[in-house]
Amino acid sequence: MFSDDDPRLSRLLEGIVRLASGDLSSRIEVSPARDDLDAIIMGTNLLAEDLQIIYEELEQRVQVRTQMLHEAHLKMQAMAMQDPLTRLANRSALLEALRSAIDAEAPDDEAPVLLLMDLDGFKTINDSLGHSAGDQVLVTVGERIRRAVRTSDVVARLGGDEFAIVMPAASPDQADIVAHRILAEVGEPIEVPGRSIRCGASIGLSIGGSGQSPEDMLMEADVAMYASKAEGQNRLHRFEPGLLLVRRLRSQLVEDLRGAIRNSGLELAYQPVVELATGRIEGVEALVRWHHPERGIIMPDEFIPVAEEAGLISELGLWVLHAAVHQLRDWQAESVVDSRFSVRINISATDLQSLQFIEDVREVLKETGVLPSQVVLELTEAAIVRGNELDRYSLGGLRGLGVGLEIDDFGTGYSSISYLRRLPVDRVKVDRSLLVGLGDDPTQPALVAAVLQLVRACGLEAVWEGVETAEQAGMLRELGCLSAQGYYFSRPVPPEQVPEVLASLAERASQ
Ligand code: C2E
Ligand code: CA
Ligand code: CA
Repeated sequence: MFSDDDPRLSRLLEGIVRLASGDLSSRIEVSPARDDLDAIIMGTNLLAEDLQIIYEELEQRVQVRTQMLHEAHLKMQAMAMQDPLTRLANRSALLEALRSAIDAEAPDDEAPVLLLMDLDGFKTINDSLGHSAGDQVLVTVGERIRRAVRTSDVVARLGGDEFAIVMPAASPDQADIVAHRILAEVGEPIEVPGRSIRCGASIGLSIGGSGQSPEDMLMEADVAMYASKAEGQNRLHRFEPGLLLVRRLRSQLVEDLRGAIRNSGLELAYQPVVELATGRIEGVEALVRWHHPERGIIMPDEFIPVAEEAGLISELGLWVLHAAVHQLRDWQAESVVDSRFSVRINISATDLQSLQFIEDVREVLKETGVLPSQVVLELTEAAIVRGNELDRYSLGGLRGLGVGLEIDDFGTGYSSISYLRRLPVDRVKVDRSLLVGLGDDPTQPALVAAVLQLVRACGLEAVWEGVETAEQAGMLRELGCLSAQGYYFSRPVPPEQVPEVLASLAERASQ
């Protein structure tokens, strides 16, 4: 037996306290006595041993788990910084790279450079060849940019067909060289299943200055990129403060135009189309004008491209369609014109690609009771050729409605004869550039005759626009041309002047 003051008792107590406090490796000394108290001590040590093993195992498991969690977290972070399609950096990664480039002190005459690139015509590729071909183009473009830059440069895809490149430190000249190299690489043909395509690009360039944020640089590169786009394909533009003003004016113009379409700020002018042999007026072409409250009258060549870019062209086209066909109905009701008289309406490529447009035409005909044959839609060659796949267009549907279809600006585009034959159109309107010189240039009548022959060989008729003199009108008549339009007959006039113009033309014809 042991006594109350046996020193082993206090050792046991201290040992248990140590174990309880977490020191699982501590053990209590066993005495040589090997009595009951020693048995308790040995039991306690065994328990401590078990506890220690269990604890260590647990700890190991927790460590493995923690490691796994950590790795998963890193992976997620990497994914959050990566564009899944091209495996290039994404917007957040780009901004981070820009920030560290700005924070690192660049050597003299070098600075962080940001290039922002947007593909030209990518939407058409995507729409006409399908999304998987579109994806393939994006991946290829990404690879080519990577090839054109240093490994230390960061290449990102910001979404859609927009790419960005950060060069941590470069001189303006170096930046120029790299940007042009990228344009050249990207402009090479790209193979997608079944065909090879070319895709241009526009680049905006921003050079970091002191106190600039990554967002500032991105905004500048964006403004410069739009300036490149406005200049045409495969351009590079460096940011300059003047561009900000251009952008502001442009967005103001877009807002004003939106308002004008919705709140009757637009007007139509009408220009007669005359049958040359008889002088009869076949109809009028509707030409849109914008009455700007401060800038006065703005001509379509200036605002149609704005409407197209800002996505307002369908809305504008619908307004023109309504206004022109309703006007024709009114003239007919007032007996200003008869049911052989037609109105010609210019339509955009966007309208041509939308099935809704066919419905809109059907609707306005029903609403007004105007005959389908009294409406002629003028479409430019460029609008049709752009997408290549004829079937994608609503030409057939429009044809089915019975409205007339006419190719506008003929002779300025790409039409081949075989192509022209396939189009469901009745007439072409020969661009006025083909009449320039008719009257002074002795070779010109031969050219006009050749064009006329070509058009007729395709089973079509031609309208000649831009007739400015009596002499030109006379020559066209002699050559056997059917109808014509131009300042010689009348300038485009507001609707209230149309009855007067028609009357005076009829008078002229009868003389
Ligand atoms: P366009 O369809 O080729 O229209 C003919 C243009 O030539 C008109 O200019 C007209 O005023 C002008 N013109 C007519 N006769 C003569 C002439 O004898 N000599 C000369 N030098 N010019 C003449 P405008 O009205 O400025 O229209 C320009 C273009 O804007 C049009 O070319 C057309 O492509 C587009 N446009 C006009 N209205 C609309 C519209 O409602 N919708 C769409 N999408 N485009 C329109
Ligand atoms: Ca036209
Ligand atoms: Ca034209």
